[in-house]
Amino acid sequence: MSHLQISKDEREIMKTEKKPSIQDYTREELSQLIKPSFRAKQVYSWLYHKYVNSFDEMKNLPQALKDDLKEKYRIEPLKMIRKENSKDGSTKYLFELEDGNTVETVLLLMKKKQFNEDGSVKHQEKYTVCISCQVGCKVGCSFCLTAKSGFIANLTAGEIVEQIRFIKKDNNIDANRRLNIVYMGMGEPLDNLGAVSQSSRVFADLDGMAIAPHRQTISTSGLSTKIVKLGKMELGVNLAISLHAVDDELREQLMPINKAYNIQSIIDAVKAFPINDRKRVMFEYLVIKDVNDSMDAAKKLLALLNGIKSKVNLIYFNPYGGTEYKRPEEKDMKAFQEYLTKHGLHCTIRESKGLDISAACGQLRDNELEEK
Ligand code: SAH
Ligand code: SF4
Repeated sequence: MSHLQISKDEREIMKTEKKPSIQDYTREELSQLIKPSFRAKQVYSWLYHKYVNSFDEMKNLPQALKDDLKEKYRIEPLKMIRKENSKDGSTKYLFELEDGNTVETVLLLMKKKQFNEDGSVKHQEKYTVCISCQVGCKVGCSFCLTAKSGFIANLTAGEIVEQIRFIKKDNNIDANRRLNIVYMGMGEPLDNLGAVSQSSRVFADLDGMAIAPHRQTISTSGLSTKIVKLGKMELGVNLAISLHAVDDELREQLMPINKAYNIQSIIDAVKAFPINDRKRVMFEYLVIKDVNDSMDAAKKLLALLNGIKSKVNLIYFNPYGGTEYKRPEEKDMKAFQEYLTKHGLHCTIRESKGLDISAACGQLRDNELEEK
């Protein structure tokens, strides 16, 4: 090893001596830490409206405060190591964290910008950003590529927040433009609830990005006790449940976590969850050919969701090298959806966006690791 390279031990030391990142804090917390407190609002504005990457650029702060901030905090740096554009307008990012681990974030273009006949803007682009909360995942679902690397690390709140800040800056997305966030990238959000809930508060802060809680969706594999805990936090976020199977036996095969938290426990937790009046709990159902795509499954799903203000999102399984699972037939997807809608359930079909780039969660990272 050359003397310029950082050894593993040195990296560990750097990690333990790392200053906290400024994006870990809500504006309210910062106003307790920074004196006089109104300066916290200015710091927030520099970070989340003007997207600066150093304290020196925060021009209206006195030099002494800038020096103090530099000494105590850092601005969480995410290094973009790969970016892929898809034909449908989605962009997939691979970020390197300071410890060398990598995570994915996807900017999804939900609606293109449209103009009126006179050339004025009818509506702006509509974006959803899919963010990661862990490197790898403990849950170990058999169909998921992220699971293959096992669990490596939890992201900090600052690392989660920076994914959105980076992407807004990189795409010149105006500070006050609305956008939606889904915690559907790598990792299980409820396994890192502290950092995830904190990031949600930072996103929602009216002096910062002001992304309302009802524009944020936390997706979980169904850790029932944590769903209850999340509900009690009263963040106001939407909930998505990755259900994928309607009986415990099959669900255990697909998602071993079902042994600890079975389907009924999830349904009970969902029923107790505080849902925004205008919203529904989303049930994600990943459809795998000949595994869970039968009409019988559709019937059981309908019965299971009886009495829950829900909507169902059918997702095409997106195959990758080394998996035995197959993408379902379009006709089976349609029949499944038709059955549910005919019986009054809201049900949409989701094509993994960005299919021509490395599509489903974990796939860009996997490509990168293979190339190394
Ligand atoms: N851990 C959380 C959130 C991240 S996974 C959860 O499981 O809900 C987000 C979604 O991606 C899940 O619904 C998961 O089922 C889906 N997914 C995983 N692998 C996939 C694949 N190969 N094709 C399509 N969707 C996949
Ligand atoms: Fe983890 Fe979600 Fe992948 Fe399951 S689907 S292994 S919970 S990231």
